[in-house]
Amino acid sequence: MAEFDVILRNGYIVTEKGVSKGDIAIKGGKIAAISCIDQLKGTAADEIDVTDQYILPGLIDTHVHFNEPGRTDWEGFETGSKALAAGGVTTFFDMPLNSHPATINKDAFDLKFSRGLEKSLVNFYLWGGLVPSNINHLQELSECGAIGFKAFMSDSGIADFKACDDVHLLQGMEKISELQSLLAVHAESQQITEHLTNTLIRRGDTSAKSFSQSRPILSEIEAVQRILTYAKLTNCKIHIVHVTSSEVISQITAAKKQGVDVTVETCPHYLSLTTADLAEKGVIAKCAPPLRQAKEVEMLWDALRNGEIDIIGSDHSPSPPELKEGDFFTAWGGISGAQTTLNILLEEGYWKRNISLETIVRLTATNPAKRFKLFPQKGILDIESDADLTIIDLNESFVLKKEDLFYKHQQSPFLGKKFRGKVKYTLVNGKLVYSSLKEKIR
Ligand SMILES: [Zn+2]
Repeated sequence: MAEFDVILRNGYIVTEKGVSKGDIAIKGGKIAAISCIDQLKGTAADEIDVTDQYILPGLIDTHVHFNEPGRTDWEGFETGSKALAAGGVTTFFDMPLNSHPATINKDAFDLKFSRGLEKSLVNFYLWGGLVPSNINHLQELSECGAIGFKAFMSDSGIADFKACDDVHLLQGMEKISELQSLLAVHAESQQITEHLTNTLIRRGDTSAKSFSQSRPILSEIEAVQRILTYAKLTNCKIHIVHVTSSEVISQITAAKKQGVDVTVETCPHYLSLTTADLAEKGVIAKCAPPLRQAKEVEMLWDALRNGEIDIIGSDHSPSPPELKEGDFFTAWGGISGAQTTLNILLEEGYWKRNISLETIVRLTATNPAKRFKLFPQKGILDIESDADLTIIDLNESFVLKKEDLFYKHQQSPFLGKKFRGKVKYTLVNGKLVYSSLKEKIR
């Protein structure tokens, strides 16, 4: 009988600490042996030759909206997780809103969790929501296994997920701190965005430029400053999602130096698309906060290079095509990106800006695992770690086509873009869930 279930032969093994050539053996869903000097001895039921390919810890996407249950016609665990597997993602955290009911109490959590178990191809965790009406449900959500909580400081765009005013934020943060959990925050100022939106719509200007002006960087700065103050006051761990600007990141870095337990996420679209793309591609590239100018994108890469960004999440937030119509103020705000996170980082980071594979692994796997207490079970290639792996060919290039996308709706602002670096295989708990050779998902 074979000693191992799977052996990956002759690949380049990448961790946040370095790259070395070797073999990896898997047994019972875990990494059982790694050999970088001699060829790994032993036999396996399955051997995959990965010569000249790179083996990375599977990505952990801490920010997706799969909308199930309730809006499964927008996405769903099945289609969403297939897209992730094809993109090299082996674990995701689903946000508490856009699904219906919103994940703001135990019943909603249990319902969503059972759907995920039934349908997801990859590992997953669920975020709980913090809304003004559910402070009394935070404990039960934490006990159910919520990976953390999510709150909005401005309108979420979803009626059953209300933004928190300052009093509810403070109450929620006190409770979350007591639960030793973490609060992820959509940090844009309701006052600023509402005021500017009303002013611009009154003028009748619903262009891309006007939409961008309605949600300026200053709106993020004001909200982030406030939530950092509340974090100091309540001792609550926080995570600022989808930050678009290095100016915002500087504030967060300064707060870290003062001892605030805060981490920051940005998304592939803020690292690769600009206000010019929004005008050119249209509402397919609409998101909130909005895309920024090209110089901001470069400054965001500088912040990433300096180690000031902790995590990259996709903020995959799809909708049916009919909601992606209308003007820049009325169309659904959300970009479909779950499948292309690694592709963007390889093309725009590794190839164009000399960002190392180690850095990409740190931002997409190791740091998320550490921040959410999944390390060293996940986020690293080591003996006894979960065999969640993605294998890529750095030199293979492709142009993204509609039919490549596994989303429920084959929409993406990246269609037609050329990428260098292709996901060849994805393994979850030691099982092959995606192979580009077969061009299908098992
Ligand atoms: Zn989101």
